[in-house]
Order: sequence, then C-alpha cells, then structure tokens
Amino acid sequence: MLIVMKPGASASDIERVLEVIETLGFRGHTLPGENRTAIGVTGNQGSIDPAHFENLSGVADAIRVTKPYKLISKDLRPEKSVIKVGTGTIGGDELAIIAGPCAIESREQLFATAEVISKSGAKFFRGGAYKPRTSPYAFQGLGEDGVKMLADVREQYGLNIVTEAMDERGVDAVEKYGDCIQIGARNMQNFSLLKYVGKTRKPVLLKRGLSATLDELLLAAEYIMAEGNYDVILCERGIRTFASHARNTMDLSVIPAVHRMTHLPIIVDPSHGTGHNYMVTPLARAGVAVGADGLIIEVHPNPEEALCDGAQALTPGQYSELVRQVTVIREAVAEEKTIAAA
Ligand code: PEP
Ligand code: MN
Repeated sequence: MLIVMKPGASASDIERVLEVIETLGFRGHTLPGENRTAIGVTGNQGSIDPAHFENLSGVADAIRVTKPYKLISKDLRPEKSVIKVGTGTIGGDELAIIAGPCAIESREQLFATAEVISKSGAKFFRGGAYKPRTSPYAFQGLGEDGVKMLADVREQYGLNIVTEAMDERGVDAVEKYGDCIQIGARNMQNFSLLKYVGKTRKPVLLKRGLSATLDELLLAAEYIMAEGNYDVILCERGIRTFASHARNTMDLSVIPAVHRMTHLPIIVDPSHGTGHNYMVTPLARAGVAVGADGLIIEVHPNPEEALCDGAQALTPGQYSELVRQVTVIREAVAEEKTIAAA
C-alpha cells in the first residue's frame, strides 16, 4: 500500500498515518518529495483495506501496490533521489566520479592514487580493503587496516570514501571509517547482509550480481530500503554472457530502464564491466551518454604491478583523459535534456 499525502499535510498528519500503520502491525516508510510526501507500507502479506487511511487528515489517496517492489518505485517518489555521500551527492546534476585502486596494497600506493583522483576534481575515492577473490590463494586485501588508511585519505584530500564490505564485521568497519558501503556483485543476493546494511545509516552502493536480472537488482535494493535505509545507489558492472572478448558484458540498456522504474540513481563500472584497459574509456563514455548518474573507475599508479585487476586499471594519465572526455559528454547530455524539456 502507498499512502499519498496532500501537498499541505502537516507533520502531525504524517505521524498519525504512521501510527495507524504500526497499529496494524506493519511498517511505514516516509519519503518526502518535491510536491508531496508519500508513505510506503511494508510487512503486509495480503492487501490492506484503504479505508483505514482514506478519512485521515492530510491523506490524498491510499493506493494498493500490485508490483513486487514498493520503496524503489517512482509511484512512491516521482522525482529522482539525490543521495548524499559524505560531503558529495550522487544522482543530482553533477556526474559523480568514484575512482581509485581495485585493492589497497600499501599506504604509498593508496596516497599516490588519491593525489591523482583529488586533482581530477572527482569527489569520491574507492579502494578495496576486503576483496572478494575467486581464488583463496589470491591477495585478500588489508582488511580493517586498509579501511583505516582510507579514513586518512579522506582526512588529507577531503575525498568521500566508497569501499566494499563482505560481511557484518566489514560493514561495521566501513560504517565507522568510510562514507558509503559497497555491496559487491557476488553479495547482491546475500539477503542477510542486505538487511544488515539496511539497518545502518550510511549510503549503500549496490552492484548488480554476475547474472542478475533487473528485477533481482531492484528487489535487492528493496531489501535494504525495507529496513529503513533509503540511500541506495545502483551500479551496472556487467553481467556474464557467452561473449568472451570482455570480462563481462555491460548491459547499458539497464540505465534508461532503471530511470523509468525507480527514483534511485545508477552508476556504471566500465572497469569490471570490460576487464580490459583499452575498453574502459569507450564504455565510460557510453555510460555517460546513456544517462548514468556516475562512474566507478579503477586507477593504479603502476597497473602492471597491481595485486588485483591490473589488466583493467587505468594509469593516472589515462584516467585524467577519461575525466576530460566524459565531462564533455555529460554537458552535451544535459544540454540535450534542457532542449527536450523546453
Ligand atoms: C570491486 O568493485 O572491486 C569489485 C570486486 O566489483 P564487483 O563486485 O562488481 O566484481
Ligand atoms: Mn577490481
């Protein structure tokens, strides 16, 4: 059920609706919009009688939701969500660029990369401390020591920190030291982890699973939001197909589909999406052209020496050129939108 409040509804009107929802044994999720507030109801198995709400003060409408998702839906919030990540935002007018190494290897490597990212004008820094590696014998990351180093990067450069957590202990560390909790492709359907990050108050970057459909991605986001954390950013990072010329197949059609169905922002990851250095910049350009809200890019001072994902890492020079190119494309897309809206 979705309860749409009248534009002039007061805080106590909203409070009363939430009380009624609670009395019925369900949970209310308030999402304020530009013109009106909507309240999503979760926890009900069957349908709820709209009569419970129809006559309450400030209620414009009580609508039954037939779709499998409620909180990600544009029915709940017609405007796009702009998610605050530290001192930056994702989903607004500005293209969000998150860049940094695949894995934190050493303080020297981390700070050398952060220097480049900071100079590029990007507001977000990535670096994995907990690495989901295919082989148990591969470098697994520096763990909490790495997350603490990221906090030092924020201190020195003012960059907002995005980093992956693979379990509850990792979530606690990222919540303490970082600005955004990344849930990696392999954990997109780790439902207990999704519920756990849903209870935190840090934004979540949710990457699409290796073979997840769009519905599965959206329902994973719904899991996080149903726990009360509405700050979810989606990420297209390529899916597994029969194609073998690239590490994954970037499914860029998902960007307009997401924008049509949900108010959540979506960014693209052409690093994991392609797996090859020479493909990263072309696919970053394509992602921005198709309307992505941001990019996440792997950069390493010496890609050939990287302990993880060196083949897809950009050099500092290549990264700076990528930023220059995508900035031009973003401006063209914004101009096009303005013309279309006029
Ligand atoms: C990463 O961003 O470092 C990563 C492991 O990505 P994914 O979960 O998309 O494979
Ligand atoms: Mn990587």
